[in-house]
Amino acid sequence: MARPTVDELREQVRGDVIAPGDEGYEEARKVYNAMIDRRPAVVVRPVNAGDVIAAVNFARENGIDLAIRGGGHGVPGFGTCDGGVVVDLSRMKGVRVDPAKRTAQAEGGATWGDFNAATHAFGLATTGGIISTTGVSGLTLGGGIGYLSRGLGLSCDNLISADVVTADGRFLVANENVNADLFWALRGGGGNFGVVTSLEYKLEPIKDIYGGPMLFELDDAGDVLRFYREFIADAPEEFGGFPAWQIAPPLPFIPEERHGETFLAFVACWAGPLDQGEAVLKPLHDVAPVVAEHVGPMPYPALNAAFDPLVPPGLQHYWKANFVKELTDDAIEAHLAHGPKVPVVNSTVHIYPINGACHRMAPDGTAFAYRDANFATVIAGMWPDPAANNANIKWVRDYYAATAPLSEEGGYINFMSEDDQSRIKANYKGNYDRLVDVKKKYDPDNLFHLNQNIKP
Ligand SMILES: Cc1cc2nc3c(=O)[nH]c(=O)nc-3n(C[C@H](O)[C@H](O)[C@H](O)COP(=O)(O)OP(=O)(O)OC[C@H]3O[C@@H](n4cnc5c(N)ncnc54)[C@H](O)[C@@H]3O)c2cc1C
Repeated sequence: MARPTVDELREQVRGDVIAPGDEGYEEARKVYNAMIDRRPAVVVRPVNAGDVIAAVNFARENGIDLAIRGGGHGVPGFGTCDGGVVVDLSRMKGVRVDPAKRTAQAEGGATWGDFNAATHAFGLATTGGIISTTGVSGLTLGGGIGYLSRGLGLSCDNLISADVVTADGRFLVANENVNADLFWALRGGGGNFGVVTSLEYKLEPIKDIYGGPMLFELDDAGDVLRFYREFIADAPEEFGGFPAWQIAPPLPFIPEERHGETFLAFVACWAGPLDQGEAVLKPLHDVAPVVAEHVGPMPYPALNAAFDPLVPPGLQHYWKANFVKELTDDAIEAHLAHGPKVPVVNSTVHIYPINGACHRMAPDGTAFAYRDANFATVIAGMWPDPAANNANIKWVRDYYAATAPLSEEGGYINFMSEDDQSRIKANYKGNYDRLVDVKKKYDPDNLFHLNQNIKP
């Protein structure tokens, strides 16, 4: 059978088909991580599931790679490729809210900014990430950790149904009743099983929250981390938030003479009754003097977008991650040794709490296996200057070398780099074999292999 050509693909697709030499190609081949420099044979920007089917068939029939791009934030740059097809969902951003049922259906290219704006209008929300420009799809398919996870569970725990284009070009609905094995695998298994064109979530009544960032002196960082370890173990589940190493950006709430200095930040989010917020945060506030803070009531989408300016597209990225059951004294010492060396304002380390509602899902209830971990740590190296790659990567690796032995073997797939493929089995623990079985059923030839790959 003759292999389909790009011109034939152009005839089938209602959205954009962008090949080398076409206007916009240089922009279309890029992802968020500027370290990634790849040249696909064609970038397809679908406007509907039919376009996605055409793109998947084109890749399979030509025997070339296929990359899926939701929000494009994936650090390893699996959202682009050399010589293959990129399915870039950025024209599919629609979000439909059903306020009566308290659900929302998002197209596969929506970001959390798109999602939160749509649901906030109805006073509703679900767990999303902490940056508004991250894609709903990639984040949810890997698990989904954010401000609301202690109360509502991971993003994938709030997924009700997904529409998926599989490797053979079929369009499948996956939920608890239909293709339940696929639905199980999608909730944590990443982009291994197909192109997800639409995701339906349950929502909860959350509109405004009480929270924001506070900065503590480095000398007090140990006390704050030790307090956090105890407090978060049984804090009310409406409390979300995390400590973060942070160089102070030039923001008005931070005294000018402290701009550029390194602090331990704590970003808090109280999603319970607003009038309780101050009291809930008081113990944290009392651990040590707060150098600067921007804490108060605000719309949930405002907190979700508050740190976007620190992480614009076009930075270099290198990340490492681990799950952590217990933040031991030794682990805190390792953080104290490496955190204050955070090299640039864009880089950070976050120690996210994933207890509370995240623990109520059984370890084999979804593909996301680490339901007994209390924290997900990410060492997020992000910097503007490619000439500084070696020094910044070294900081991430040194930090990781010190903390990994004090952590679980596996980590969160969405916080990992391309050189973490060897950890894939550890990331899924007891769920790995079942994931392989689902992969064999829905993608036996591993068409979807540009990801943290589960091999059939
Ligand atoms: C600045 C920043 C902040 C972040 N904050 C958080 C956070 O708070 N919480 C958190 O949990 N994670 C966070 N992450 C990690 C994030 O979850 C991952 O980077 C995730 O992969 C991003 O999804 P995306 O759709 O934007 O990225 P993409 O690069 O588009 O996608 C990443 C991968 O996901 C898969 N994928 C994406 N869309 C689809 C689809 N529609 N169908 C099938 N597969 C798909 C593909 O394998 C793709 O290669 C953050 C990342 C960045 C860069």
